[in-house]
This record gives sequence, structure tokens and C-alpha cells, in this order.
Amino acid sequence: MFKPPTDPKKPRTVKISQLCELCHSRKALLRRPKNLQRICKLCFFHVFETEIHNTIVSNNLFYRGEKIAVGASGGKDSTVLAYILKLLNERYDYGIEIVLLSIDEGIMGYRDDSLATVKRNQKQYGLPLEIVSYKDLYNWTMDEIVACAGIRNSCTYCGVFRRQALDRGAAMLNINHVVTGHNADDMAETVLMNILRGDVARLEKSTAIITQSSGSPIKRSKPFKYSYQKEIVLYAHYKKLDYFSTECTYAPEAFRGTARELMKKLEVVRPSCIIDIIHSGQNLCLKPRKVKRAPPPGHVEVRANGSVSLQRDKGFADGNRCEKCGYLSSNQICKACMLLEGLETNRAKISIDTDTSVSGAAKLSKTLETLHF
Ligand code: SF4
Ligand SMILES: [Zn+2]
Ligand SMILES: [Zn+2]
Repeated sequence: MFKPPTDPKKPRTVKISQLCELCHSRKALLRRPKNLQRICKLCFFHVFETEIHNTIVSNNLFYRGEKIAVGASGGKDSTVLAYILKLLNERYDYGIEIVLLSIDEGIMGYRDDSLATVKRNQKQYGLPLEIVSYKDLYNWTMDEIVACAGIRNSCTYCGVFRRQALDRGAAMLNINHVVTGHNADDMAETVLMNILRGDVARLEKSTAIITQSSGSPIKRSKPFKYSYQKEIVLYAHYKKLDYFSTECTYAPEAFRGTARELMKKLEVVRPSCIIDIIHSGQNLCLKPRKVKRAPPPGHVEVRANGSVSLQRDKGFADGNRCEKCGYLSSNQICKACMLLEGLETNRAKISIDTDTSVSGAAKLSKTLETLHF
């Protein structure tokens, strides 16, 4: 019988050690970043998708008939999220309606290109798309904000505006649930960052899979809470998903960047540290917070916009509305309006550049540092 000559460089049999550790039948193609298991491509797809399905089910993220908006940026996380939610919705019959919701921050050479990717995703996945722009909502683009206020706090402005823009976009679509592509690495970084800053108030909320401001009808959730960034990239690569990988023109927040570098170093030594940090964050027992005492009579309060009030704002709590724009705010004026006011009077630039006197401008600078996004 004729036997074709074998190529000595290509052995025809697969060594046991090269077989997938899960199915034991196909050749292992990758080492899973989460636990270093050698597995084949099909088993990787299966475990990755099943873990996300389990996260959705065990946390009751969706209910039948719910309409959800996927915060779509065209990046790897949100592209994989839109693809997987559509897939799981069909596979497990969640009965949800999915819409893509994109924010156009107005960053030339970055967001315009990534939005082109979202528009292609819309066609590829057959999902409706809504785009909300900063220019329409605030009459400022991020490029204009950076030109006015400098690059240093660009992510603070952008984060405050995006949060509100997503809520407004969802409300326009009559949707009460925004799903974002925040992954396990993002969450672990946030925990680490809040520990390093001693920011106990934010530490408490940083591992929640569902968040909702009191009084707001719109909730947010993170189905990728336990998904590693490296696995999301691998999934997008092997599934040949169309995503945009260029970084934003404006540098990411400096301190988050430091926490990210630290996380990456830790992950090399111990891959489970990402999940371990999230686990630690959710199990920390914090002391009950002290109730803030009312300021003494005659107390002078310098507002972030530089104005001075002799009396404390009364009756403003979570669930109240901003006097200027009507957005939910625990203060008289919401964070976005406060920043816009600063921009419009060019105070923001002064406050960011000078950090010396206890002026209204310095107060705004301090406020920028404490804003949550
Ligand atoms: S990196 Fe900063 S400025 Fe750029 S999109 Fe993200 S939050 Fe906005
Ligand atoms: Zn396998
Ligand atoms: Zn407002």
C-alpha cells in the first residue's frame, strides 16, 4: 500500500501533552490567560461565552421583554459585548431587545474613526444604532474642551459628560438599562486605585455589577465583570470581529494608568490576581459612614463655580434635579453644568493651571479631582 511521505517538520500525530485540557480531542491552540489552561479554540469560545451567560443569569441582569442599550464605542470590549449579547440572547432565549448607543465626544482622528466601526457593527449584527454627541448636548466637543482647559483633566470632563450623555441617550430611546463593556481588569484597577487613594466611598461601589443613582430610572450593568481583557482580545481575534483598536488622542487618566501598569505586573506573577482583587473589594467590610453635621450658622460656602453662598443649600439630596438642565443631581447644579459654567467663563483653565490660592478657581480644581466617572 502506498504511504505518502511524511514531512519530518509536521508530525502527523498530536502528542498527549498538546491536546486540549478540556475536550482531550483537539489540539490545544492557546493558553487561557485566566488560569493558564491549554485549550483548543472551540473550547475557549465555549468557556468564555458560558462564563458570561452564568454571570448574566446568576445576577439576574435581564428580564424577558427588557430593552437594553449597549454602550458601543467601536473598541474591543463593546464590540465583543454587542456580539456576545446578541449570540446569548438567541442561544438562551433571554427575550431582550438590544440597541447600540454610541457617544460622539468630538475627538478628531479617534472618535470619528471608531464611530465608523460602530456603524459597520450595526450592519454586521443587524442592531439599531443611536448616536448622541457632546456638541448637540453641551455645545462643546472634547477637542474644544481640551483647547480651552488643557489636556490634564480631559478624562474628568469626558467621564462626567459621557455618563450624562449615556443616560440622556437611553432616555431618548425609552430604555432604562445601559450595559457597558467594563471588564475584570477595569474593575480590579478601580479597586486598586481607590485603595491607593484611600477613597473608601468609591471603593464600596467599585465592584457592583449593577449600579443606579437613587431616583434615576436608568441602571447600568457590567456583564464582563469577570472577563479578562486578554480573553476579550483573544475572542475578538479568533472570531475575526471588526473593532477599532487605536487609543484616544488624549492620554488616559494618569493615576489609572499607574494602577493598570501595576495590575499587569501582578498578573504576570499570578494570573488569578485580577479576580482575587475584585473578590477582596467585594468582601471588604467598611465601617458605617459618619453622618455629616450641618455647618454652623453663618458658614460661608465657596461653590465650585466660584460663587459664595452664606447659607447651605437646603433640601437637595439624591433624586433632585439640576436647576439648569434638569438632570438628576444631589446639588443645586449638576456636575456637567458646573464644568460647563467653568469652561464658558474660562475659569477651568485658570483653576487647572494654578493650584495655589483658596479662590473659586482653586475650589473648582479640587472639585475636578473628586468627581466620579
Ligand atoms: S481617554 Fe479620556 S478623553 Fe479619551 S475618550 Fe476616554 S475618557 Fe474621553
Ligand atoms: Zn477542546
Ligand atoms: Zn445640569
